[in-house]
Amino acid sequence: MMENNQKNEKPRPPIVVVMGHVDHGKTSLLDYIRKTNVTAREAGGITQSVGAYEIEHNAKKITFIDTPGHEAFSKMRTRGAQAADLAILVVAGDEGVKPQTKEALSQIQAAKLPFIVAINKIDKPDINLEKVKNELLTAGILLEGYGGDVSWQAISAKTGQGVQELLDLILLAAEMENLKYDPQVQAKGIIVEALRDNRRGIVVSVIVENGTLKLGENITTPTASGKIKSLKNFLGADVKFLEPSAPALILGFDSLPQIGEEFLTGEINFNLMEMPLPVAKKALAAKGENSDKIKVVLKADNSGSLEVLSDIIKAIPSAKPVVILGQSVGRINEGDFRLAVGNQALIIGFKTKLDPTADSLQKLSPITIISSDIIYELVKKFEDYLDSFREPDAVGELEVLAVFGKSEKNSSAGKQGKQTVGGKIIKGLIKNQQKFEVWRNEQSFVKGRILNLQEQRKDVAEAGTGKEVGLMVEAGDIIKVGDKLKFFVQ
Ligand code: GDP
Repeated sequence: MMENNQKNEKPRPPIVVVMGHVDHGKTSLLDYIRKTNVTAREAGGITQSVGAYEIEHNAKKITFIDTPGHEAFSKMRTRGAQAADLAILVVAGDEGVKPQTKEALSQIQAAKLPFIVAINKIDKPDINLEKVKNELLTAGILLEGYGGDVSWQAISAKTGQGVQELLDLILLAAEMENLKYDPQVQAKGIIVEALRDNRRGIVVSVIVENGTLKLGENITTPTASGKIKSLKNFLGADVKFLEPSAPALILGFDSLPQIGEEFLTGEINFNLMEMPLPVAKKALAAKGENSDKIKVVLKADNSGSLEVLSDIIKAIPSAKPVVILGQSVGRINEGDFRLAVGNQALIIGFKTKLDPTADSLQKLSPITIISSDIIYELVKKFEDYLDSFREPDAVGELEVLAVFGKSEKNSSAGKQGKQTVGGKIIKGLIKNQQKFEVWRNEQSFVKGRILNLQEQRKDVAEAGTGKEVGLMVEAGDIIKVGDKLKFFVQ
């Protein structure tokens, strides 16, 4: 996953979700905004629901998610996608705060979404604004002007009163969020709707969150993939590319992705060299009672992410039961590290890193840590880890007899350096460019690749059992004499 380059970053429109109790006017509000801000000319007469639409207000764009509020949003939240940047909490002025208002509020809070309260139906005669405001206060919502800083607007989704002011507030709130995207990175976004259509096949609606979504590119989610064979904007017009925060309609998925999943486009390259990926696999199998369970310690940057991580980890199919030993918010610390070491567990970190103590411990005695800021990558890495339990025995093995200095200093987490080592092949045939795992104390803890293979100081393409060879390798500058390099694929 490419990082944003700050120099390329541009502001991106906010993605807004409308939430609230049933019948309080969510659909009416979304319809009103759509009708009054998307012109028929623009729409070319086509009205195609893609689960989201884009408007312009004061020459600025806003994307609205218009799938039925709660359900889609909960799914998105459970799947780890911070789909929206902002929420509108709709409360009907005649009914006030209801159970689903509170439920929506707790979802908004769990996702740490900024939100604006829209008190709706003020065209009705029986409206008591003060009563509603008091109920909001009781529910813990401190409105602006009433001792808090939650902005609010009285509206009528029927007459349109207050709606333009609400849009002003949305733009204001979005500005404070300083939303950015980099048009040059791989496109990333969220699946909003996915369905099977008899005529067109799998039709998927997405919202682009970063990068530039291009026709013809590969697209992947944790559960599905395909190629973008047709790309349409939310008005149904064919386009070659789309930038955030545009809604889009995609044809070309090979299977149905799930609502709320994140997608990535382009060549998805899980660069093994990107970060140390210590894998303590067969060691577990060798340890009797531990062999029947996969133990994990979960760590995430906030409670919303942690909940998502835990849900997803529990949902991943595994040949052995996955047991969560502990889960907490914050950086991976010494306590997590010791818990993992003591129980031969692995640590899974979502949007978090090692703190300095844990980082030093990891250098001294590496354990398995899987981490990423992207849930999709995390899932992939964890699945790879689980897969490793099903791997056959190594097809090749080499014992490291000598290590010849270190190359350019590069052992900090995130980058891996090159190393030259000498060793004896104790099993199988070893080939140049082949990938391997480094094993120490019956534990595999990092993956690597042969960059150059030499026998008697001459480059060779391969070498067999019993031969002594010299290798230049890329494996994080951590290979020591006595380590074994195991080759699982030819
Ligand atoms: P949702 O369940 O939150 O999506 O609510 P709807 O948008 O379907 O609205 C429920 C009912 O309230 C419908 O009969 C709407 O016509 C009505 N309604 C929505 N907004 C307003 C409003 O501002 N004023 C009045 N008088 N009725 C409204």
